[in-house]
Amino acid sequence: MSYCFEPIGVVHSCFAEKFAIPRQPSLAPAARAVLELYPPFDQPEALQGLEGISHLWLLFVFHAAASGPEHLRVRPPRLGGNQRIGVFASRSTHRPNPIGQSVVKLEAIEPGRLLLSGIDLLDGTPVLDIKPYVPYADSVAPAYNHLAEQPPALIPVSWSPEALVQADVEASRLHQPVQELIEQCLTQDPKPAYQQPGPERVYGVRFWDINVRWHYPEPGRIRVLSVTPV
Ligand code: SAM
Repeated sequence: MSYCFEPIGVVHSCFAEKFAIPRQPSLAPAARAVLELYPPFDQPEALQGLEGISHLWLLFVFHAAASGPEHLRVRPPRLGGNQRIGVFASRSTHRPNPIGQSVVKLEAIEPGRLLLSGIDLLDGTPVLDIKPYVPYADSVAPAYNHLAEQPPALIPVSWSPEALVQADVEASRLHQPVQELIEQCLTQDPKPAYQQPGPERVYGVRFWDINVRWHYPEPGRIRVLSVTPV
């Protein structure tokens, strides 16, 4: 038996590529997106009641990840990328069915679209459904997960003076919290855990239409070098 689903909308997000997206929602509150709803879900009737809800569950398609029945075990980055665990014990993007779920903050409701923050979604992500976060049921006090006890360790992020000025310029142009977004994403250290780059190695990523470049002046410390339009 198979089932076929049509997206109810698409996410236009700050994350133009997968690299440096936080591993879960809420880790970067400055990460924003617009969820564009497709007809007929863009009608006010479908959104009625959302004004009384702060957070939403998004069910979405990992449209940029390989999936299928061969993915029985995965290597989560949080375990260093070496240790394998069963796919159902992980939030890996490589799954039997490419379905993701994220709790996101609903910032505003506009005709035919929802403004969101704290997202972990790639630009262009198709959304299958939206459900309200229900605090009394979804926040489980005695819950534990021994494979993911703590949020990712954070490392210090500093700025070159030029990059700080550039981030300010881009923030004004885009009307987005660019400096906060960069800091909140880079402090989670996006590079693979096994890499130990010297200070000469420069990393880069695209947020919105901005190229962000940084390096590791010493292990465990990031310095933002430049923030320039694409
Ligand atoms: N919160 C979701 C969940 O638990 O199902 C996603 C968790 S998954 C570990 C988060 C990663 O998925 C991000 O760091 C990003 O690299 C990747 N990602 C986000 N949107 C994606 C998409 N549309 N297709 C493929 N990968 C995506």
